[in-house]
Amino acid sequence: MPHYPDTLLFIDGQWTASGDNRFIDVVNPATEQVIGRVAHAGQPELAAAAAAAQRGFAVWSRMSVFDRYKIMRQAATLLRARVDTIAPIMTMEQGKPVGEARIELLAAADTIDWLAEEGRRAYGRLIPSRAPGVTQAVIRTPVGPVAAFSPWNFPVNQVVRKVGAALATGCSIIVKAAEETPASPAELIRAFADAGVPPGVIGLVYGTPSEISETLIAHPAIRKVTFTGSTAVGKMLAALAGSHMKRATMELGGHGPAIVCADADVELAATTLAAAKFRNAGQVCVSPTRFLVERPVFGRFVERFAALAAAHKVGDGLESDTTMGPMANVRRIDAMESLIADATAKGAEIVTGGHRVGNAGYFFAPTVLSGLTGDMRIMNEEPFGPVALMCPFDTLDQVVTEANRLPYGLAAYAFTGSGRTAARLRDEVRTGMLTVNHLGLALPEVPFGGIGDSGYGSEGGTEALEAYLDTRFFTMREY
Ligand code: NAD
Repeated sequence: MPHYPDTLLFIDGQWTASGDNRFIDVVNPATEQVIGRVAHAGQPELAAAAAAAQRGFAVWSRMSVFDRYKIMRQAATLLRARVDTIAPIMTMEQGKPVGEARIELLAAADTIDWLAEEGRRAYGRLIPSRAPGVTQAVIRTPVGPVAAFSPWNFPVNQVVRKVGAALATGCSIIVKAAEETPASPAELIRAFADAGVPPGVIGLVYGTPSEISETLIAHPAIRKVTFTGSTAVGKMLAALAGSHMKRATMELGGHGPAIVCADADVELAATTLAAAKFRNAGQVCVSPTRFLVERPVFGRFVERFAALAAAHKVGDGLESDTTMGPMANVRRIDAMESLIADATAKGAEIVTGGHRVGNAGYFFAPTVLSGLTGDMRIMNEEPFGPVALMCPFDTLDQVVTEANRLPYGLAAYAFTGSGRTAARLRDEVRTGMLTVNHLGLALPEVPFGGIGDSGYGSEGGTEALEAYLDTRFFTMREY
């Protein structure tokens, strides 16, 4: 078993325990064993982190963008060099296969590089004036110290999108990462610190989530809030941010429709969508969930998809032949069992899976359900687990209505051989992101975010930087 480190808070450039020496246990979801612990911040640590972020902002925002860029690129280089050490740590705390952890870390390094580069191009502009001698300029300045709240499903990726964009624009940031997966994000922050990010520019805290968010969002030093997690918590934090007039980015839940038309390459659709569904044991905000399949190809698609689901080797992510790890925590097992029990009680059929695997560890079988109806909870609530819901459709009107039925609008998928159908889905499916005939989401250079109950703001592309910049106007008349 690789070594799993305890995690401390990172405040003002120092790794520190809390004053009252409180810790939270960390559990390996594959074994249910306590493998380590993480320091629990109290009010003194949060106050120190906020004060440090204010000082860090004064230093970092005045540093030239070229110098910031060089430090960020060095952090990416360090992260790549440490992949073999950090990946098993992520697997032990989160559960995902170590190969998926490696991909996440390498993608995080790419994200840092891209945001660092793009930060050099966060230009303002000159607006031609109506009068001679008048200069009119749009100036973009960093919004200020940021409070960031990130979840446990992608412990590093969810943090790096926030830290990378904040640093690239000259902001400082305090991260509250997930208490369940604390050590791998701490290694990300260590890479930034080792690369030369000055004290106070990045803080890392853990503790009681509601206490930390209520304290930091209300703190006068904090100018922006960014959160990734459930819609329910997102609405609370957005309201809190609003009451203090803080800018906010909310990356929340989804219930992704995946539309497979009769004119699609069914084999391509099944293999591509099954890979997307069972990645990270389905604990992905953009996971495809409702599979809306045109009736002539429904049977063929479900059969192929279910075979791919059943072929998974579910096990400890540290074992090399594991293709799907455990659920990250016991709450997901409880949620899966209760959603599936509700659906089957109302007439749904289990095509494959539908149950826990083994006696220890939070393992759940890749699951495919059919015979679904709109009154089932699973058709309305985000399952956030390895379950695919198979629903036939007959007309394009019908499938657009079903895709748009829920208040979410995060990611949607479609497979079709028709450009006309693709264009109609592009125009009519209410979603933040639509990917047709391939998996094309979440690259650093493209926007990433939802609409409706899936939140607002973007964590990719140039839009990711917009979220951390104030737009100001300057005009002057020479005489
Ligand atoms: P949750 O909403 O309680 O927690 C999600 C994250 O938010 C956790 O990291 C948690 O520490 C943090 N959080 C919770 N309350 C908070 C508060 N008051 N202030 C600040 N942070 C707070 O949910 P959970 O049980 O961990 O997961 C359940 C659901 O969350 C899932 O079903 C899924 O819908 C959603 N989720 C979404 C994502 C995503 O990537 N969008 C990631 C994880 C969880």
